[in-house]
Amino acid sequence: MISDIQMTSEIDYSELFCPQKDCSAYGKKDQGNIVFKERYGKNNRVLFKCKICKHCFSETRGTPYFGLNTPAEEVVRTLAMIPEKGGIRGTARANGHDKDTVSRWIKRAGDHCEKVNDHLLKDLNLKLVEVDEIWSYIKKTKKCDGRRSSGIW
Ligand SMILES: [Zn+2]
Repeated sequence: MISDIQMTSEIDYSELFCPQKDCSAYGKKDQGNIVFKERYGKNNRVLFKCKICKHCFSETRGTPYFGLNTPAEEVVRTLAMIPEKGGIRGTARANGHDKDTVSRWIKRAGDHCEKVNDHLLKDLNLKLVEVDEIWSYIKKTKKCDGRRSSGIW
């Protein structure tokens, strides 16, 4: 089994926020309220604690690796729908998100592919082939994100 344990020192605390909706720091990053609590489970996941509401949450919940206030599960679940729905527009319509929001998630997913993969495989129980399919869509759309070749001008 391949170990992909993240070192605690790699955790960017300024990117973390409290996922507890009734917490006064809910969704706010870089408040200094999130502290490391412990590691747990066979995947050695990190458990964080919010100093304000004392709520504990795992890295898979509280890490807004998309830099958004949407829970990671929701983002990944949406991404997983893309092949089935045939694209961003269909996916956005199917789950009620704005298509610009979905495009933004796709763009960010590319920057966090390891974590996204982790979610897709472990949390959504997808097969590798299904995950590949999602990525092929993500990469396809990434090409049209408006980045023009700078060499021409
Ligand atoms: Zn809190």
